[in-house]
Amino acid sequence: MMICASLRAETAEEALAGMREARRLGADLCELRADLLRRPELDRILPARPLPVLVTARPRWEGGGFAGSEEERLGLLAEACRLGADYVDVEFRAPRDFPRGNARLVISWHDYEGVPADVESIAARMRETGAFAVKVACAARGVADLARLARLQAALGPAGIIVAMGEFGEPLRILGARWGCPLTYASLRAGSETAPGQVPLEELVRTFQVRTIDARTEAYAVMGNPVAHSKSPVLFNDVFKRLGMNARYVRLRADDAGQLRALVEALGLRGLSVTIPHKQAVVASLDEADEVVRGTGAANTVTVRDGRLLGANTDVPAAMDALREAAVRKWSHGVYGMRALVLGAGGVARALAWGLKREGARVWIANRTFERGKALAEELGVEYARWENAAEVRPQIVVNGTSVGMAPADGESPAAPSLFRKDMVVLDTVYTPRRTKFLRDAREAGAEAVDGVDMFLRQADRQFRLWAGRSMPTEVLKEYARTL
Ligand code: NAP
Repeated sequence: MMICASLRAETAEEALAGMREARRLGADLCELRADLLRRPELDRILPARPLPVLVTARPRWEGGGFAGSEEERLGLLAEACRLGADYVDVEFRAPRDFPRGNARLVISWHDYEGVPADVESIAARMRETGAFAVKVACAARGVADLARLARLQAALGPAGIIVAMGEFGEPLRILGARWGCPLTYASLRAGSETAPGQVPLEELVRTFQVRTIDARTEAYAVMGNPVAHSKSPVLFNDVFKRLGMNARYVRLRADDAGQLRALVEALGLRGLSVTIPHKQAVVASLDEADEVVRGTGAANTVTVRDGRLLGANTDVPAAMDALREAAVRKWSHGVYGMRALVLGAGGVARALAWGLKREGARVWIANRTFERGKALAEELGVEYARWENAAEVRPQIVVNGTSVGMAPADGESPAAPSLFRKDMVVLDTVYTPRRTKFLRDAREAGAEAVDGVDMFLRQADRQFRLWAGRSMPTEVLKEYARTL
């Protein structure tokens, strides 16, 4: 799939500088938004272009910036063709009877509000024009829109460039080539988007390697809300690349876990990581669940096999492995029989309290909202303590299962420094930032401390094993353990 960097330039100098940067970053062509230029100096830009150019003069009536008359606008596009534009984009709703020279015609349709009810028939009529390519760009307002646009791309194949705008649409911008999409639009850099949801060029080239995606590429995703800052795509795509696997891992913003099956089918997903806030809700959509999912009621992994959705929870074994190893370093034995305090009563606290109990630890839950912590403790058959009296438990193991300390509110800790002792094992599940105040305080007291990155990498490695049948390479895990 070709990458087209869409330029938000106001002058000829900016446009040419943007084109040079786009070429350096790996774009195949760029879109010159003539409607955003202050002066339409195409004669200064096009002859000096360093890479092929698609010229667009989007009118206001289709969400663009061109305020002049239709006659002026079509005159500008004709001028672009005369000056050697490689492609020209004309709206389906506009006349196209101007001389186009050798420029290839892209017919486009934009809807910034959503997906029109008759989008399939619009696309079919656009195809009848015989244009080189048909571009349909619609705002995806949720996963249902994303699934519908993915099906449209699959139906059109290489004749269609289906763009799902907005954060919900990102998977299609990246994976479109699986259904033959010939081109994806990128922003030159984060913050210079010309349409909502464009992925920065460098990310499309390096992280997602879109140019080598084809019909056989296996697709995986992290499903959650928010997902924009997930570290998983960088890790998984790097691992796929180093192992020579034709697979990609994308961010999938979803506000309804009940859409899981529709998404798996529309995007042809082979596996998913599930994150906030869907770990519990997703369980209802599974065909099978492993022992930890059945015990905790939460899944963070879905593997798709023969159309069946198999749920697993890799957070629990990952955290237990990390805690067991830390306990062995501290006490030369595991966590069995030790007094463990879990702070929090959300998804992670639930999973870790359940896991520690199963490992034979004596578990207390303390949560800011006392009733919620008490209810969870009673459900799991463990003990509970008041948030402000947690130190009275005299724990030997302390787990931060709250989100306190997470960026942007880093610098905070869910525990007073006086809670920590030398003879203690401590785990912080928060991993952005890696060095939290909670861990600093624990280490200053001499405790054996495990950070959230350690747990994150272990749970990701276990997901990879479920999907690929092998572990992530040790050197990759070591590298990310240093750099994440
Ligand atoms: P969650 O379900 O939203 O639960 C959040 C918990 O934090 C609740 O118990 C909440 O208490 C508590 N909390 C929030 N703000 C607080 C505050 N200011 N003071 C005291 N308690 C507060 O979240 P989750 O899914 O369990 O995730 C928790 C953390 O685990 C996140 O930081 C996440 O990034 C991390 N995590 C890490 C990994 C890993 O691999 N390292 C994996 C998964 C999750 P209330 O009940 O009183 O609201």
